[in-house]
Amino acid sequence: MTSSYRINYQLRAHKRDPLIEFIKGLLLTPFVLHAKPRKPVLNAPATPAGGHLPGTTSGLVGPIQGDDDKNDYQEEEKPMVDANLQRYLEIMKSVEGMIEEHRRKALKGVPEHSRLHRIVPSVASFFTPLPLEAAFLVANAKHSIAARRFVPPSFNDIRRILNTAQVMAIAPTLNLITFDGDMTLYDDGTSFTKSSPLIPLLITLMRAGLHVAIVTAAGYPGDAGKYEERLSGLLQCFNEQKLSEKLLEHFYVLGGECNYLFRCGWKKAETTGESVVGLTYIHPEEYQPNDMLDWKNEEIQELLDVAEENLRRSVSAMNLKATVLRKMRAVGIVPTDGVKIAREQLDECVLSTQQRLLEYQQFSGPSKVAIPFCVFNGGNDVFVDIGNKLIGVQVLQKYLGAAPDATVHVGDQFLSTGNDFATRSSCCTLWIISPEETEGVLNELTPLLTFPADSE
Ligand SMILES: [Mg+2]
Repeated sequence: MTSSYRINYQLRAHKRDPLIEFIKGLLLTPFVLHAKPRKPVLNAPATPAGGHLPGTTSGLVGPIQGDDDKNDYQEEEKPMVDANLQRYLEIMKSVEGMIEEHRRKALKGVPEHSRLHRIVPSVASFFTPLPLEAAFLVANAKHSIAARRFVPPSFNDIRRILNTAQVMAIAPTLNLITFDGDMTLYDDGTSFTKSSPLIPLLITLMRAGLHVAIVTAAGYPGDAGKYEERLSGLLQCFNEQKLSEKLLEHFYVLGGECNYLFRCGWKKAETTGESVVGLTYIHPEEYQPNDMLDWKNEEIQELLDVAEENLRRSVSAMNLKATVLRKMRAVGIVPTDGVKIAREQLDECVLSTQQRLLEYQQFSGPSKVAIPFCVFNGGNDVFVDIGNKLIGVQVLQKYLGAAPDATVHVGDQFLSTGNDFATRSSCCTLWIISPEETEGVLNELTPLLTFPADSE
């Protein structure tokens, strides 16, 4: 018999990250058992030892502890914090060990034999070790995790600890860093502005010899101008700082998940003819693998027709104030101006369309190549794109010669209904939730990088 717990768990699975939930559960035990709230210490006039203030009987007013029940901040707070910290560190060290064992088993081709896999069956690959103990100390210094008595280590604490550990581990070998666009580099649907604090950090990454790429869902087929518009602030800064062609060659934009690649460099402005920093379209034959070049347009359109039909049905069934937008390699629903669609409704569109397309491909028979697609909740819209960011990252890795342990993808959509999720199978990842957090991880990363001797 299916228990209600199981139904509940399955229905919520798309909102949870199993590894983070697992670590959170482990840290919750010492929090519940040991991080107890402090007994009250009230500043009141001295009374006879062990006595109450005149006129009180309950002891709720005035000093309540006797000589044998001292709870002085200096005497008790620090040992409690230290003991909490030790317990948390011990847990992080153990998880670190489990990840190492999982990596060893994966190298032998049997990741499913690891202890971590048995406990968290959906756990992804780890391309580097993760120094979780050291990362916990960094997080604790910022967010006082061990000193907290009322708020246990949270999902966000653990997400940030995993980010810090990943940054520490990958810094020495990093070659390619890819960024999602919306909510990672700039707010949803907006453009990269000149004042963004991320710009100097991106330039620092390029100066350290890294390849930097924006891998975004935004799809404007072959249209460099549209991407130049979205990234205008960034390109203007490159322009003003007169970055060399050699340095600019480290910057790429891959749009439509994996479909349209552009290289950055100096070019003649169409209107004035003067030299400006811009983007140049790279033809698919130059970088796309054969199986991608084999995707037939009629099959793509057939898949998008099925997706569109399901999206239209969702819009009408839930009475959403949204329009359906069809592009060459994508179809989506976009809210009408000023409308905010609830996350639950967006997730409903994603999950039902995912299901519909998988069924469609399953029943299409073996004669057709199953074209990869991704359906995702973009925060305030839902899109079905042909291809996905996993292919996007793999294409860049091959084109630029970067291995999975030398690649990191930074994004905000790492739940299973998000489009950054797929990259996990091919590179390391940093899960941020805002451009401010991207700034935070880059501020942790850049001091750890080494710069080539001829760096500009
Ligand atoms: Mg995003």
